Amino acid sequence: MEVISKVEELKKYLKNKKVGFVPTMGALHEGHLSLIKRSVKENPFTVVSIFVNPTQFLEGEDLDKYPKKIEADLKICELGEVDAIFLPTINDIYSENELIIKAPTIKGYILEGASRPGHFDGVLQVVLKLFNIVKPSKAYFGKKDAQQLYLIKQMVKDLFLDIEIIPCNIIRDGDGLALSSRNIYLTPQERNRALSLSKSLKRAGKLISAGKRDAKEIKELCLEVLKNIEVEYFEIVDYDFNTLDTIEINNTIILVAAKVGTTRLIDNIWI
Ligand code: AMP
Repeated sequence: MEVISKVEELKKYLKNKKVGFVPTMGALHEGHLSLIKRSVKENPFTVVSIFVNPTQFLEGEDLDKYPKKIEADLKICELGEVDAIFLPTINDIYSENELIIKAPTIKGYILEGASRPGHFDGVLQVVLKLFNIVKPSKAYFGKKDAQQLYLIKQMVKDLFLDIEIIPCNIIRDGDGLALSSRNIYLTPQERNRALSLSKSLKRAGKLISAGKRDAKEIKELCLEVLKNIEVEYFEIVDYDFNTLDTIEINNTIILVAAKVGTTRLIDNIWI
């Protein structure tokens, strides 16, 4: 497995290779590994990037304390049979006074984009840079970050990029908590309370299976499960992130964001 930090070196190394690409911010877990395994299975060559992208963090967020576990990450990638790791520094990726990428004004500024204004500008900026460096044929993204996945698909379409975006299922712990690099911030008590996110979504799933379709009613019943944590949003949208009044089977995403102690968590289910 090659570990490369310089853009030109990686470009040269990947020339004429058909690449599957998994962009990450490191502190890898089974969720990331599921994307890696899929890429390794579906592509002759797999590149994983590990880069904590500063432009997607807002002032006062956890950029400085974002978990770093590079030795363990390299081991996981090696075991996952990754071919190359891209491990750049901030200076390898960014220069002074760069042009700005803007997320679309509506879909980039609702939900996660409303809680974290400008977050998706930074996400799209770095993902476009990474796509231009790695030039993958396929890129793998988790449904855990549903709005990010939607906006990346839109960027690929709007900018005519020849990249297939592969959505990957959410990987959870046995008790239902969606895996996240940020889960390590949680104390045991907070982790217990954090289960409310997945429990609320499970309740939504059950209500829908039982025939309920009214989004407002489902939301009210699910918010009861979330009483012990600080909910930022609980919303029901279609696959294009338009608000839904009525559940549409095979076209509904239910998303929740909440703070547990000082840790911000997100989760969702696709109906
Ligand atoms: P991150 O390192 O948090 O930027 O995540 C890198 C990629 O892994 C993104 O496409 C995430 O959506 C995906 N990912 C993170 N957590 C999970 C999970 N629990 N299940 C599936 N994919 C995930």
